[in-house]
Amino acid sequence: MIPLLIYGIVVIIFSSATFQKSMQQQVCAELKNVACLVDTLLDTAYPGDYTLVGDEALSLHKGGVNITSDYRLIDGIHERTGTDVTLFYQDTRILTTIKNWDGERIIGTQAPAQVLTDVLREGNSCFYDNVLIRETTYFGYYTPLRNSDGQITGILFVGKPAAEVNRQVSQALSPIVIVGILALVLVCLFSIYYAGTFLKALYGLRAFFSQVATGNLNEELDPAVLKRGDELSELGRSALSMQRSLRSLIERDSLTELYNRRSGGRRLNGTAEKARSENTPYTLVIGDIDFFKKVNDTYGHQCGDLVLKNVAGILRRHMKERGYAIRWGGEEFLLVYENCRLEEAYESLCAMLDEIRASCVQSGDNRIYITMTFGMACDPARELKDLLRDADDRLYYGKNNGRDQIVTKL
Ligand code: GH3
Ligand code: MG
Ligand code: MG
Repeated sequence: MIPLLIYGIVVIIFSSATFQKSMQQQVCAELKNVACLVDTLLDTAYPGDYTLVGDEALSLHKGGVNITSDYRLIDGIHERTGTDVTLFYQDTRILTTIKNWDGERIIGTQAPAQVLTDVLREGNSCFYDNVLIRETTYFGYYTPLRNSDGQITGILFVGKPAAEVNRQVSQALSPIVIVGILALVLVCLFSIYYAGTFLKALYGLRAFFSQVATGNLNEELDPAVLKRGDELSELGRSALSMQRSLRSLIERDSLTELYNRRSGGRRLNGTAEKARSENTPYTLVIGDIDFFKKVNDTYGHQCGDLVLKNVAGILRRHMKERGYAIRWGGEEFLLVYENCRLEEAYESLCAMLDEIRASCVQSGDNRIYITMTFGMACDPARELKDLLRDADDRLYYGKNNGRDQIVTKL
């Protein structure tokens, strides 16, 4: 913010100074034009040289005409252009539009010393931005008046009070400064807003990462971070996908992608807890592939893995929206039907066993078919560990009584 503010203020000051300078140059050019105009008008109206007539009561003649009290021309210029005009004979004011507090023209007074050196002696035309005439500061342009022989006989002055010029400059400058300040304020407000949302997103990400680092893989990321549509959103998405990958690594079995025993067991505890508090039933099923050792022995371990993946796929699809499947052991799976009675679970399990029986895994020219045995248990009155034992006992019973079946009670 501070560099931005400094930058804005420097830009405003610099542009104001440049603008003021260019306005002064414009005033200088304008005064130069008026001086040229006055000179030409005087030459046209009174063709001829300047001469001073008389010793005490001085009167200035041009082309033989006494122009000492002829203010028509310079007053006309003053009226039309707002510029003051003075004619000096040598260093003395003879004709002028400048008046004192009493409204009298300040004739007979001297030109400033610097002007006498620059214009009268050296013959230069000069612009000054601080000429003091009777306590008033002027922007003034002085140019030498010459006779036909090239001799400098006096000075022509045209000028504008500095206060008036500055007022015009301020008038022209104020909208620029106001717009500049407004733009700066807007930029500052936007920066504050943007920096605020940026920091908020950054803090959100930091909190998210620190939760993940401490092992909390269920932490949610503030949705506002993802909605930003900038690099922070990308970082947020990457962080979420990292969280998902970590969760999957920790919670899922790498071969079957089902919940592993540890995370599945935790989930099962949650299900049992919820069922007890809400007084709803849930059904447990332990399933085991029949003669799986034979599959490994006959077709190889890799083929056995394919069979496991295939079975896991069927279990996962089947349990979708009914509950979840856990890889409970090597070729043993635990199915948890949430909020579901045994009869209902039995019905869908029968359909799934049919699907397992019908599906096969291709190994070279061989098609491998398998069957499974399932033991079921559902009793809201019993503890989880007892239910697990019941299901296991029923599985064991099925194994000893022909396999390829579902056992619901002993
Ligand atoms: P039963 O019908 O009584 O269950 O007979 P079974 O052969 O299926 O049971 P057994 O316990 O004798 O053999 C299980 C086999 O499962 C032994 C083990 O090598 C195999 N197994 C366990 N995990 C994996 C695995 O991840 N991949 C493969 N390919 N085999 C596995
Ligand atoms: Mg088995
Ligand atoms: Mg087994």
